[in-house]
Amino acid sequence: MRTPSLVSKEAAREAGLVVAGEPLAVDLADTVKMSFDPPLDLIGDARRNEAFWGIEQHQLPEGSGAPDLVSAQRLRAAIRTLFDAKVDGAPFDEEALRLVNELAAAAVAQPELSTTGTTTISRVRWVAETPGALSLAVAARSAISVLTGSSADRLRRCASPTCSMFFVALNAKRQWCTPEGCGNRERVARHARAAVSA
Ligand SMILES: [Zn+2]
Repeated sequence: MRTPSLVSKEAAREAGLVVAGEPLAVDLADTVKMSFDPPLDLIGDARRNEAFWGIEQHQLPEGSGAPDLVSAQRLRAAIRTLFDAKVDGAPFDEEALRLVNELAAAAVAQPELSTTGTTTISRVRWVAETPGALSLAVAARSAISVLTGSSADRLRRCASPTCSMFFVALNAKRQWCTPEGCGNRERVARHARAAVSA
């Protein structure tokens, strides 16, 4: 049985959470806006944390649930450290690597074969100590695949110097976290500059 979602899409939106089709690890990394001082944490309390894992259910296996806030924030910090290093071409932080590997290993994927009459079915059963540990494991595995998978070279940070959002640029030309956010601000700024120099 899938853990029922405790939150509605409205609650998620109200919390400022955006799910834009990025891998789970990228969505988690983007739950903090570093451009604010102090940084704006979109999962900064238990309710928002629940909301985040609730709207990510489509990327989580059966039996998963919201991890505790502190663990979610620790994994997020490690993922951001690794993503920053990847984007900047810097060496990976050992401590961040250790945490991601440790959490990824906390769940085991067991392939299972069954038959119904003439049909053969395979599925994967995930085993972890708690629903929260399972979610953290899947998020950590998502980070590993973002950093090493076929789109690893497409991991980017938004081109706006005041934005800290990561994304996987499936379209090679993509520079902005969102076209209606930073992309639009840049377009407006470009027009303003053109008007001044005209
Ligand atoms: Zn941006």
